[in-house]
Amino acid sequence: MPQLSRRAFASALPLSLMGGSLLAGGLIGGAPALATTQAAAKTPVSVTPLAQIRIGRFTITALTDGYADMPYDYFPGRSADEVEKAAVAQFTARQSGVRFLFNQYLVEDGERRILIDAGAAGSIGQTGDLPKALGTLGLQPDQIDAVIVTHMHQDHMGGLILGGKNNYPNAEVYIDRRDVKHWTDPAKRSGAPDFLQTSFTMADEVVRLYPKLQAIDGEREIMRGVSIVDLTGHTPGHIGVRIEDDGKSLIMVSDMIFPVVHPAATDVFFLFEQDQAAAKAMRDRFFPQAAAEGALIAATHMPFPGLGRVVADRGQMRWEVADWALQT
Ligand SMILES: [Zn+2]
Repeated sequence: MPQLSRRAFASALPLSLMGGSLLAGGLIGGAPALATTQAAAKTPVSVTPLAQIRIGRFTITALTDGYADMPYDYFPGRSADEVEKAAVAQFTARQSGVRFLFNQYLVEDGERRILIDAGAAGSIGQTGDLPKALGTLGLQPDQIDAVIVTHMHQDHMGGLILGGKNNYPNAEVYIDRRDVKHWTDPAKRSGAPDFLQTSFTMADEVVRLYPKLQAIDGEREIMRGVSIVDLTGHTPGHIGVRIEDDGKSLIMVSDMIFPVVHPAATDVFFLFEQDQAAAKAMRDRFFPQAAAEGALIAATHMPFPGLGRVVADRGQMRWEVADWALQT
């Protein structure tokens, strides 16, 4: 994996990856005319998309914190040219790279509200919309009973922190013990590339701000019908969440699948994956299993609402978008 310095990473980042507030601040400070243009250009982003499905007694609402475009050379295992060609073939090519959504999922059964992941919260790209999305549902962060964080990358836990405080004061926070250990380990931190340092900083802060954080071991049930699935690979403690009731199920697989490159191949990675052998093993195991089961999947970075299935089509794995209309 390329060892990019912070400067190299920053200079390689398109402006849209540098965080919305930075960009808006710069433009508003320097040139009012440009600021107006920027505000107008941002208008469509302010629309809050929501999508809901029902799994037995659970209502699951897909929310999104925003998006960022990942340059074509962020996918080790393939050249930038190959990734761009794949994007062109899928009609999703953009000059700025592969568009990653940052989707979160709210699970409700009438008694408890569980949020799966908390978003990047402005730490990357055009993000920070999750609180507004919850607001659209009439919810404040203090009404969330639990947050399951699938792994400790900044785009999945950033929203746990707001202005140096815990943004979900009443929530039990669940994170796999292997990730808590890894991302709070000074030795791991000093050996990690600069672009992962934000995740290490956030992990320390999350542990400090959520003293009742529950480090979880293995595939345990969080509440009836909501259980942890071990998907180690993308990070040491990368987990999924299975929601199951009345013969139906949905599995939220987080960073198991990235747009454009997956699930067609498993020997292609995202820059943030430090252990490529483990990431490959995870996908080699999971994609055929998901295809055989016809499992309904929710994936963080796939186009909103991130719901679909892995299907085997004449020996080729591909992503099939799922119908997300609320069904009874
Ligand atoms: Zn991610």
